[in-house]
Amino acid sequence: MDINYAIFRRRIFAWYAKHSRLLSWRNTGTTIDPYRVWVSEIMLQQTTTKTVEGYFERFVKRFPTIAELAAAPIDEVNRLWEGLGYYRRCVQMQRAAQEIVTRFGGVFPNRRDDVLSLPGIGRYTAGAILSIAFDQRQPILEANTIRLHARLLALRADPTQNEANTLLWNFAEEILPQKNTGRFNQALMDLGSLVCTGQEPQCISCPVVQFCETAKQGLQSKIPYQKIKEKKEYRTEVALLVRKQGKILLIRYPEGVRWAGLWDFPRAETDAELPNHIAEDPKLRERLALMTGHRLEPESLIETIKHSVTRFRITLLFFTGTDRGKISLTENIENTKPYELQWVTPSELHRIPLNSTGRKLVQNINQKTLW
Ligand code: SF4
Repeated sequence: MDINYAIFRRRIFAWYAKHSRLLSWRNTGTTIDPYRVWVSEIMLQQTTTKTVEGYFERFVKRFPTIAELAAAPIDEVNRLWEGLGYYRRCVQMQRAAQEIVTRFGGVFPNRRDDVLSLPGIGRYTAGAILSIAFDQRQPILEANTIRLHARLLALRADPTQNEANTLLWNFAEEILPQKNTGRFNQALMDLGSLVCTGQEPQCISCPVVQFCETAKQGLQSKIPYQKIKEKKEYRTEVALLVRKQGKILLIRYPEGVRWAGLWDFPRAETDAELPNHIAEDPKLRERLALMTGHRLEPESLIETIKHSVTRFRITLLFFTGTDRGKISLTENIENTKPYELQWVTPSELHRIPLNSTGRKLVQNINQKTLW
């Protein structure tokens, strides 16, 4: 495909001057703070701009600088992230903030290798920060630009596969102007988001339609190629409301598992097919015991919630439960370390970072005044 890059760039800039999205993290006056760009880019991974808006404002208000984020208790950082999902991002961001303080004196680095050496920052995020905050000539490739570029090139391959992905990165780099690259990259993202949409792209309003191979060939509904969808898996889990002397038992998910760093009610998968078989499910009791180091017994069903985590479609049964005490070491399996536990009063729950179903259960219980 022949693209006259000079004309292509001019059209992109002209379109952006009229149609750029008003996003709160872009309102930084004349100088652009790399910290704000970084926070917004990490939040935007796997999350829509609409969802991120409110979170971003609250987050940077509470942690206006890298040093303040680095010094904050992790539970407070997680609490402000609660509901955004993919919690590993948040833990890694605080680790990166701590590294910036120790290695770079609290100033966000502007060398590509230094930026890429920070936890949780990959090629896309580094490109976004360096181009937007430092106007370095660095390409970006995220969901909107993958779709846009795949269509401009009429790419007949899954864009996430190695060869196709390399081709897209090379294209993203080739089309960059020598300066104002941050503005150019943001314009491409906005064009992908507002015009070159997944369903029914608005080719008639597209400033670069003249260069688009997909539009020429009428292949908009076929490109980009879709990833083969993972098969859904259905499972049933049980969460327990265990009370003792006015307090409730919580577990904290450790590193390397789903919801790492967040708190929840003790929760495990069950093999029982009916709710009235739950109390007798030995596998469930064993899983809860290994998780908590306590013998926990489900009693009666409070409510049922259905939700999804990645490919899993989960039916969550929320039961009252009883703590029959700690398990002795001989009963436990060697080398299995129970999760961190804490007993909290109902009034303390608002400041503790919970996973989204944990928070929903708390809200429902509050409404039913069940504490
Ligand atoms: S012409 Fe249509 S398909 Fe091509 S880049 Fe523009 S909006 Fe996307």
